[in-house]
Amino acid sequence: MAPYSTITPIEYLKGVGPGRADVLRTELGIHTFGDLLRHYPFRYIDRTQFHKIAQLNPDMPAAQIIGRLVHLEETGERRGKRLVGHFRDDTGTMELVWFQSVSWLRKSLQVGSAYVIYGKPTVFNNQLSMTHPEMELYQPGTKLSGSMSLQPVYSSTEKLKKYNLDSKGIQKLQAALLESILTQLTEELPDHLVHKHQLMPLPQALVAIHFPRSQQELLAAIRRLKFDELFYIQLKLLKNKLLNTQKYKGHRFAVVGERFNRFYHEQLPFALTNAQKRVIKEIRKDTASGAQLNRLVQGDVGSGKTVVALMSMLLAVDNGFQACLMAPTEILAQQHYQSIRRLLGNGIASVQLLTGSTPKKDRQIIHRQLEDGTLDILVGTHALIEDAVRFKNLGFVVIDEQHRFGVEQRARLWRKNSIPPHMLVMTATPIPRTLAMTLYGDLDISVIDELPAGRKPIKTLHFYESSRLRMFGFIKEEIAKGRQVYIVYPLIKESEKMDLLYLEAGLELLMKEFPLPQYHISIVHGKMAVKDKEWEMQRFVKGQTQIMVATTVIEVGVDVPNASVMVIENAERFGLSQLHQLRGRVGRGAEQSYCILMSNHKLSKESKLRLETMVRTNDGFEIAEADLRLRGPGDIAGTQQSGVLNLKLADLTTDQALLTEVRNSVIDLFKTDPQLANPINALLREYLTRAEPTISWEKIS
Ligand code: ADP
Ligand code: MG
Repeated sequence: MAPYSTITPIEYLKGVGPGRADVLRTELGIHTFGDLLRHYPFRYIDRTQFHKIAQLNPDMPAAQIIGRLVHLEETGERRGKRLVGHFRDDTGTMELVWFQSVSWLRKSLQVGSAYVIYGKPTVFNNQLSMTHPEMELYQPGTKLSGSMSLQPVYSSTEKLKKYNLDSKGIQKLQAALLESILTQLTEELPDHLVHKHQLMPLPQALVAIHFPRSQQELLAAIRRLKFDELFYIQLKLLKNKLLNTQKYKGHRFAVVGERFNRFYHEQLPFALTNAQKRVIKEIRKDTASGAQLNRLVQGDVGSGKTVVALMSMLLAVDNGFQACLMAPTEILAQQHYQSIRRLLGNGIASVQLLTGSTPKKDRQIIHRQLEDGTLDILVGTHALIEDAVRFKNLGFVVIDEQHRFGVEQRARLWRKNSIPPHMLVMTATPIPRTLAMTLYGDLDISVIDELPAGRKPIKTLHFYESSRLRMFGFIKEEIAKGRQVYIVYPLIKESEKMDLLYLEAGLELLMKEFPLPQYHISIVHGKMAVKDKEWEMQRFVKGQTQIMVATTVIEVGVDVPNASVMVIENAERFGLSQLHQLRGRVGRGAEQSYCILMSNHKLSKESKLRLETMVRTNDGFEIAEADLRLRGPGDIAGTQQSGVLNLKLADLTTDQALLTEVRNSVIDLFKTDPQLANPINALLREYLTRAEPTISWEKIS
């Protein structure tokens, strides 16, 4: 018999026929022995932790009880149909209730048998009950689990359960699986790493995660498997980084020249913050060394990223190169263009704007100037990456608001010169360190963690609907002082129609509260033509309107220093980072600014936490950490391609220390053995060859 291995198709496992193989594939994505092995328990029943029915109360998050199912009946009609069981132990009786799979459950549950149940206790009609509890026949001891105090619980589905693949069924498969391939499992990390990090050997860890003999053993197994998950992501990222720096010799910016200095000494209207200086130095150091710069600059809204970008571009211009800045929207590109022009004044460098709406005639001029080298700096949108845009000698690229652009777009800019330009990516959405290490592990990271002096922190208030009149009153006071106000409504794809209704209803009320001719209101929403949007926006920018009612289209970038109040309607429907971005639209001038979060009285726990976080802090990094804790990495832009979503055990919020350990370990590894040529690293070299067969590892020298 051929030995089984992790790539053996799952139907060859004892106890799995074609039918079960099919549901394992469709329900859990388990195709091979290896897939099943990596279907880890999502929790463990601590055999020592049981409750009695008399001890239960509805404040408990969950409880595990041993008792007997003494009665089972179906009640209700059609849609109200449910299955109710009576469950009893020596201290009392409780109800178990099921609303789904009623007829199937009624057939499969055994009245009179003892069960271990697990679920959240609730009180309904003064009666203690549990809805859709996990049910397991009480079996004091099976072969593998007999001596275990921790019993694995696997996720399963109703469909799997029909094939007797509930948690217990899957546990049996795991036992069979380990029996058949245990001898085939080998260590996958080099010994020196296993020793250095005191890791449990892999085969042992894979057994222990399914059948832990003690809490301690389980923790060691989990640590080992988490280490691996994080390790291979870092290995790939840092290898790419190494490849890039070795494959691409960057343009060397030998001098800090006349234009940079003139700008700095004669033009710059303010003193740079220390953080800005530090980041410019970091960029200067990269570009002077002749290495390829690949750097992410994170800085909260208003931290002054534009100047940093501009000074970097001047550095390029001083060394005979061209530079470009790409922004995700037309409005943003325009604003960048204008502020760069304003900052530069006349004569330091030539700048042009190129967007989708640049007239053909102007476009042709720009194309020509780019090719003959008379144009130094080009600002624009996606229009920059079109093939028709050719530079004489592009040396530096700035990408603003990175997460809106894909990797492919970065690459297309990259290819606009035979030696790729330096690449500076700027984002105003701070990302927690751990996530940055994984999302942008192939980039160096700079942080502008300081706001220009003299900024007054924005005051954030949370108002319930009942305080709406107070809010209106407040707006009137601010407008009387000559300030302007944003009022933002949520607009979420699935319910666009409803949201527009809200917007319109809100608007009607506003028109009554803020009537002409005293008040003027601008309206901007996603359904409007770009031209109309621009026009409305301009009215607000010029101060012709005092109130701007908008959907989240104003989220990024727009800069109106005189606007001092941001009202966010239905604030509970926004994510944290979105709220923070919106708030960043105010607080740009010298005046005290305010952000008012309007919400319903009824808030979920999570919404409440979000709003509380906003009121408590203005720090984008703190907010990003909270966001990651609340939502997990799944909803954070950019995570899809990064591999972090494939993490089964590691958690970027709680495993920061481990991630740092892993990353440093990989950095050390490449430092001492960049080609992984040392035989002690053969396993890793093989892994990388397997993982990315298209990149010839041999060619790097
Ligand atoms: P962001 O990081 O959000 O892109 P900007 O670059 O748009 O921020 O800068 C916000 C505002 O702060 C601009 O008006 C800019 O001119 C100003 N600014 C930038 N750096 C400083 C500084 N060091 N001192 C004072 N004002 C500054
Ligand atoms: Mg900006």
